[in-house]
Amino acid sequence: MKIKAEYIWVDGSEPTRKLRSKTRIVSDPDDLPEWGFDGSSTGQAPGNSSDCALRPVRVVPDPIRGEPHLLVLCEVYDANGTVHPTNTRALLRDTAARFADQEPWFGIEQEYTMFRRGRPLGWPENGYPAPQGPFYCGVGADEVFGRKLVEEHLDACLSAGLLIYGINAEVMPGQWEFQIGTGDPLLVADHLLFARYLLYRLGEKHEISITLFPKPVRGDWNGAGAHTNFSTRAMREEGGLAVIHEAIGKLEKRHQLHIENYGHGIEQRLTGLHETCDYRQFKYGASNRGASVRIPLGVTAEGRGYFEDRRPNANVDPYVVTRLMLETCCA
Ligand code: ADP
Ligand code: MN
Ligand code: MN
Ligand code: MN
Repeated sequence: MKIKAEYIWVDGSEPTRKLRSKTRIVSDPDDLPEWGFDGSSTGQAPGNSSDCALRPVRVVPDPIRGEPHLLVLCEVYDANGTVHPTNTRALLRDTAARFADQEPWFGIEQEYTMFRRGRPLGWPENGYPAPQGPFYCGVGADEVFGRKLVEEHLDACLSAGLLIYGINAEVMPGQWEFQIGTGDPLLVADHLLFARYLLYRLGEKHEISITLFPKPVRGDWNGAGAHTNFSTRAMREEGGLAVIHEAIGKLEKRHQLHIENYGHGIEQRLTGLHETCDYRQFKYGASNRGASVRIPLGVTAEGRGYFEDRRPNANVDPYVVTRLMLETCCA
């Protein structure tokens, strides 16, 4: 049997890492080899010693090529077999193991913007669309743009067995969201990368490019975030609301550290004008979408559940945001 195995990894691009992938033909799905690549072309090695290694860490069916083909998520190692500095997954592995007894769960809301020929999808050739308002969760050809790709992406995520939770059209035309979760940190972060990969890849077919840039259009338009929802077993059990408040208190103390690691360009997005408060402030509140951290309505009512960190950018590294939240809230 000839299987096309698409090896996917995170590169060393600055200021925001990108996904890379290449295809290896294999015959045994249970024996996926390590594979080298040219790190000097991905910002991961100097030219005179350019070999890096891809180590397969999670495999799902490839819904684009169909059976028996595979998507193979990899960690990057350097030529000596040590964890590459860009390999943030390795750090999360350690942290997740350390706090596994608290049974942490995450759910990440991935916002993104579709572009075609340099303009957000659905934007007029000249000038601007109507102001924000009708587009969020909109229905109808005058309200939403790109649904064909969105539906294809949703189907692809389901076929790949990803933990996809839902989708919605966002506040700016051409902007959408999907959510990955609810699950343990490593699984959710890995699945988020598979879902991003599928989105970029399906976009090729539609000649739509996807950007995770946090402020794709200047002016009075919402940016793109990656709200990160979090709970531990104690938060989900009776009396959990007090544990949630305790965790939010810890987040407040390390606000600066989190902001610095929540994605490039965060100060362009968190201005205080478009949901979520100014990046220099930390606010939290029940049902408050203008806060840094929000406790959802149902959670306040039930007295237990989870909370939402609204600060992360769409371009955040899912291994970094989950690791920092674990380190800050669970320690
Ligand atoms: P919003 O109202 O902020 O737009 P969404 O419906 O888009 O929220 O997303 C809710 C997110 O919350 C999902 O990613 C889901 O996985 C996550 N979530 C739900 N319950 C929990 C929980 N107990 N712990 C962690 N995350 C959760
Ligand atoms: Mn959402
Ligand atoms: Mn959203
Ligand atoms: Mn949200």
